[in-house]
Amino acid sequence: MRTTLSALESSRAHRPPGYVDAILAAGHLDPDGIHHHITPENLAAIRRQYGIPEPPLPPLAHQLRNATAALTRTLHAATAGAPLTVSPDAAQSRQALCQSCPHFRATDQRCSQCGCHLPGFTGKWHLATERCPVGRW
Ligand code: SF4
Repeated sequence: MRTTLSALESSRAHRPPGYVDAILAAGHLDPDGIHHHITPENLAAIRRQYGIPEPPLPPLAHQLRNATAALTRTLHAATAGAPLTVSPDAAQSRQALCQSCPHFRATDQRCSQCGCHLPGFTGKWHLATERCPVGRW
């Protein structure tokens, strides 16, 4: 999992002391010097160590409603000939914002607000019709 160093640093304000340093120590800086990489397993372990529980998913009915709405938006975009995916840079930016967000679930890489899957070609980070439910992107 990659996030920007600046996103990690800005998350210090709402994380326990030592948490961000543990994240930095457990991962490595990518060759670009901007992004930090950590495995989802290590991130989940550090969250447990610092008593940061994975936020629960919304009720199943809420998840189904969101998934149906997302599929409908994507189908409308496809029918209209609109772009279905965002640029790799935009997807990377979304990913960085999610990975520093308290609503992000490291174990399954889902958003606890909408229940959506985030990575992958059909994940929310890539889909042009999708937005963050709390307005972070
Ligand atoms: S989609 Fe928004 S609320 Fe959900 S994890 Fe990402 S930034 Fe947080």
